[in-house]
Amino acid sequence: MTDPRGIGLTSQRARNRLVDQLRGMGIRNEVVLEVMRTTPRHLFVDEALASRAYENTALPIGFGQTISQPYIVAAMTEALYASGSLERVLEVGAGCGYQSAVLAQLSGRVFSIERIAALANKLRSRLHELRINNVRVRHGDGFLGWPEHAPFDAILVAAAPVGIPEPLLQQLALGGRLIIPVGRAGSQELRLVTRTASGFEDTVLERVSFVPLLDGVS
Ligand code: SAH
Repeated sequence: MTDPRGIGLTSQRARNRLVDQLRGMGIRNEVVLEVMRTTPRHLFVDEALASRAYENTALPIGFGQTISQPYIVAAMTEALYASGSLERVLEVGAGCGYQSAVLAQLSGRVFSIERIAALANKLRSRLHELRINNVRVRHGDGFLGWPEHAPFDAILVAAAPVGIPEPLLQQLALGGRLIIPVGRAGSQELRLVTRTASGFEDTVLERVSFVPLLDGVS
């Protein structure tokens, strides 16, 4: 990927340190770790925050939203890609597009939905600049999924509803996996749901803190 701001080299050490932290927190998949090391997170935040881009924290991206913490991006990605790269992936709550860029490197095609128009537009131009061509961005309401492109091998949701939206379950392929934070602020858990021949298997992974998944568009 290109590095228009040219600070990639100087942040090499910060990136390696981030990967060491991710390993320490239990991320084991080497392919995922390598994608975390090489994805230029500093290009997804405001220039004023670029020097903090490789810290393992969420950072503001405007509109009251945040770029997800690298550990959470890595953990969700690892849970979805346990069995290798995937053909069709749906992302709900694309925000600044950092998670989209990570998914794009591990997938055939990524379909990303964002409800805030300004973020969706910014995301399109940023992915274009980075020459990431396998992500389609839709300004819309992720509660509905993207039925025209279903079924999906994986669905990643980066904002928390109070319960799992039914359309997302219906848009999972057989054997497909959905990773989603569920619950109100202060009591959310990250859940991994797998579609099987007889229904759905649901596992709770860990306690998390995401912004809420909101109805409608803005
Ligand atoms: N992974 C993103 C996280 C962004 S925060 C990143 O690293 O930047 C979660 C995003 O979900 C916000 O941008 C918010 O606008 C979006 N969101 C909330 N409710 C949504 C909905 N119903 N449909 C689509 N996006 C939604």
